[in-house]
Amino acid sequence: MYVDRVLSPVVTLGPGQRVALWLAGCTKHCPGCANPELWEHTDAQWLTVGQLAQALLSIARERSTHRLTVTGGDPLEQADELAQLLQLVRPAYPDILVYTGYTLDEARRAIAADTWGQLASCVDVLIDGPYLEARNDGLVALRGSTNQLIHYLSEHVRDEYETYLAQGRTVQNFVVGGRAISVGIHMREDARHGE
Ligand code: SF4
Repeated sequence: MYVDRVLSPVVTLGPGQRVALWLAGCTKHCPGCANPELWEHTDAQWLTVGQLAQALLSIARERSTHRLTVTGGDPLEQADELAQLLQLVRPAYPDILVYTGYTLDEARRAIAADTWGQLASCVDVLIDGPYLEARNDGLVALRGSTNQLIHYLSEHVRDEYETYLAQGRTVQNFVVGGRAISVGIHMREDARHGE
């Protein structure tokens, strides 16, 4: 899988303290995307599913962090590998949120039925749709623009997410390798959507 980075604990991409995984690669090229550097991927970013699963399982164990957000890039452009990955890490992550630039209907059409079934059995929350800069109202939590919808694929997390959403947007800063990284959903004028 093409992986850009993993950060934790992240508190701005879903309830609680989370592990956040950024996958590299996205062909949608939404104007105003916060992460255009993740549209392309390089060979140096490649990890096997097994390698990435071991890393995520180690983080969960060592940091007692059992919530996972997968963003990018568009994670569903690596749907087969993502389905395998989530099956492996699911026992350690009972709360999994995935972002995609596909709408839910587009994803269902684009992804093979068995792969979609594997994904749907592991993903608790899917936030869908392309980023539309004109619809970034600066308000909706967890989403960059109002066309993006929150789909609960399992109900057990709904109450926690609804409480979290009521808090509005937040942004968190990390320093990685001397570089500042702002994580969360941003206002339109300061750098488009987060993730
Ligand atoms: S906003 Fe999301 S779907 Fe759109 S180009 Fe950026 S990473 Fe891809």
